[in-house]
Amino acid sequence: MSGKPTPMMQQYLALKREAGDALLFYRMGDFFELFFDDARTAAGVLDIALTTRGEHGGEPVPMCGVPVHSAEGYLARLIKGGCRVAIAEQTETPEQAKERARREGTPVSKSLVARDIVRFVTAGTLTEEALLEPRRANLLVALAPMRDGVGLASCDISTGRMELEDCTGDALDAALARLGASEIVAPDDWEGAAAETIARPRADFRSEDGEARLRAIHGVATLDGLGSFSRPMLAAAAGLIAYLDHAGRGTLPFLLPPVARGSGAHLAMDAATRASLEILEAQGGGRAGSLIACVDRCATGAGARQLAEDLSAPLADRMAIEARLVSVQHFHADPLLRADLRALLRQAPDIGRALGRLVAGRGSPRDLGQIRDGLTEAQRVREMLSASADLPALLRDTGAALGGHGALVDHLARALVPSPPTERGQGNFIAAGYDHALDALRETSGNARKAIAALEARYREDTGTPSLKIKHNKVLGYFIEVPAKHGDKLMAPDSGFTHRQTMAGAVRFNSLGLHEEATRIAEAGAHALAAEEAHFEQLVGEVVATREAIAATAAALARIDVCAALAERAVEGDWARPEMVEEACLEVTGGRHPVVEQALAKAGERFVANDCRLGSDDRLWLIGGPNMGGKSTFLRQNALIMLLAQAGSFVPATSATIGLADRLFSRVGASDNLARGRSTFMVEMVETAAILSQATERSFVILDEVGRGTSTYDGMALAWAVVEAVHEQLACRCLFATHYHELSRLAETCDKLSLHHVRAREWKGDLVLLHELARGAADRSYGLSVAKLAGVPGPVIKRAKAVLDRLEKGREQTGGLGAGLGELPLFAATLQAEEEEGDALREAIEAIDVDALSPREALDTLYALQAKA
Ligand code: ADP
Repeated sequence: MSGKPTPMMQQYLALKREAGDALLFYRMGDFFELFFDDARTAAGVLDIALTTRGEHGGEPVPMCGVPVHSAEGYLARLIKGGCRVAIAEQTETPEQAKERARREGTPVSKSLVARDIVRFVTAGTLTEEALLEPRRANLLVALAPMRDGVGLASCDISTGRMELEDCTGDALDAALARLGASEIVAPDDWEGAAAETIARPRADFRSEDGEARLRAIHGVATLDGLGSFSRPMLAAAAGLIAYLDHAGRGTLPFLLPPVARGSGAHLAMDAATRASLEILEAQGGGRAGSLIACVDRCATGAGARQLAEDLSAPLADRMAIEARLVSVQHFHADPLLRADLRALLRQAPDIGRALGRLVAGRGSPRDLGQIRDGLTEAQRVREMLSASADLPALLRDTGAALGGHGALVDHLARALVPSPPTERGQGNFIAAGYDHALDALRETSGNARKAIAALEARYREDTGTPSLKIKHNKVLGYFIEVPAKHGDKLMAPDSGFTHRQTMAGAVRFNSLGLHEEATRIAEAGAHALAAEEAHFEQLVGEVVATREAIAATAAALARIDVCAALAERAVEGDWARPEMVEEACLEVTGGRHPVVEQALAKAGERFVANDCRLGSDDRLWLIGGPNMGGKSTFLRQNALIMLLAQAGSFVPATSATIGLADRLFSRVGASDNLARGRSTFMVEMVETAAILSQATERSFVILDEVGRGTSTYDGMALAWAVVEAVHEQLACRCLFATHYHELSRLAETCDKLSLHHVRAREWKGDLVLLHELARGAADRSYGLSVAKLAGVPGPVIKRAKAVLDRLEKGREQTGGLGAGLGELPLFAATLQAEEEEGDALREAIEAIDVDALSPREALDTLYALQAKA
């Protein structure tokens, strides 16, 4: 039978339409319930029971539910599982619903409490402590594609930071890779959107709206004072704010004034480079094995988030880098200061995020307590720093942002109990002595409780029933209980007790005296709760009013934490302060790969340090040697050293002189990526093409076995041509690892190129990899020895040896793989010829008298031109 949907079902369906593709959490008393497909999805992700409730259209309705008091944990799992959730709360009590039904003249028995979606919970709009990772920023990104590029707005609403930037060409992918957003929104008519992008109406992305909203939020007449923002940036800001509005149902979270991000201020790295250097995530995914996991010694979550940002976007400005390096040096040189400071920081709660919750209207008394404690710690940090002699400018400036909260801290300290609860509905967070009226109310209920205890003693005496008890529960409130066998004594009409309930083994009563005391408790309790609630609102208001100064303090604490943590890491790993220079050089003595070194140390093995000396006379190193010899490691360690230095960190080396780079590129030959199952050679070539088109003289490029993803001849030819292009055209610093011996002949024609190899030695028939870099070409490939080392069975090695002997004989006769390379014209000559060809074509085109051509002749001319091209 399929009847008309019930009123509840109608309400549900209307809310579900509003929720769109977000799962609808429909509040029913103490549960959030999900129905239909939402229930199926949630039951799957959460691994909870899927049942049914009632019918719709003649079919049972699938349902599952989660208790309201533990909803956060379930939400966290749903968000992690890629879902978005709309929370529909009851917006009136059942009594109010009945009252409304009476007023409206509808049957009271069928009255339905009103419900409304109060919030969308999405990955990019979280503020809850339980749902956020302490050491990771949580970013929401909005993209506004326009004719002249894509505007990008990013914000972390847990701390209010907001940045706007313009992305043209490949810069968008690089920016997205840098940010690692939890959620991305873009206009629904944009074809360039990735699958996981959330589509929003195009009308949300209007630059005029963005400007107007930013002005309104920050209370300024013009944005000029905040920076200069392009139209795409403002359009992206509009889309971002509109989405926040949608998710918060009109309550905007905390937003600091936007910062315009310039393109030249940072060391540029594209997505492939980030992935291959494993900056924030290792290749397999996850933090373990990444650079940040190896470097991060921050005492606070906010510090760890700042460090992640620094490593994702190292600086490209020498003065700014120096400012950080001097600050790290300051803590490096003063172990006592460092230890004391870090001990203080470890106590400091995450005030940035507590503030985010309070501003978003989702704060708790505990958040107020965190603000109080965090600002107190900040003041201590400030005093500690100002007592330190010769404080570098960066630390002096950040130190200044730590203070100035005296009055607020003082107020919070007086108002709040030492550790306020997360639940604000129960009260008990306002300290005694803060509000006399509240104290009096608490005293009243305290006295009444004592009076009840006294009543219990008296009733026991009066009735001669020592087992009589006064108890309390939610339904009855206070009551008197005696075991069933004593019940009759209290039943007597003149006993002063009135019967309330008879249970299996007990009988319950009330009395006038008890009723009076219970009423006193209830009234005082309700008044006390109301008083605490009012204080809460007032204190939150005070915090919110100084939000920008508090956010600045949070940022300052994070910066100081990062400097001290980098100093700690440098001491721990014996790292050195790099010297930053303008010339395009990279001179590293005793360089190490921090992640590999740490892994080896755990296994009790030693990392072999290696030098690197790239300069204007010798800017391309071609590195050969056996597989597993340490080529990749060497390439990456130098890229990481440059990245760390530009992020303002000491570096794993005995000394380093580093010329500032504008871009860093890292490419790994395809077969290393095979496990990820992509069309590997194609990817390799696309990535290589990006380097050839983007690198400048100031860039640093590492190329690891490029060309390996295809047949020997193709691969070697490509590797050859790429090396030449890097050497002749890009003229940047480059380390190129290859196992093609033949490439060593490039040294004959490329004068800024030198040959190097990782050393290996054969000892008693076994291969020993020394992981040590030496000048000159590798003498041979050791492929079979490596295979033996890897455990390939003896007979197979033996057979391979026989094949190899034959091949080598053949090579001697024909001149081998590199035969014929001797007659190869210089790369420069190729470029020249290309230019000349282009000129010939241009001349031919210019010679055409277009007006004089018949259609037929025009076609023939095109064919002729194409043949020439
Ligand atoms: P290749 O690129 O030449 O094949 P890798 O750089 O991948 O070699 O190094 C292979 C392994 O050798 C690494 O995983 C590491 O364990 C070890 N290794 C590399 N470089 C060093 C070094 N400098 N000191 C000690 N061990 C090293």
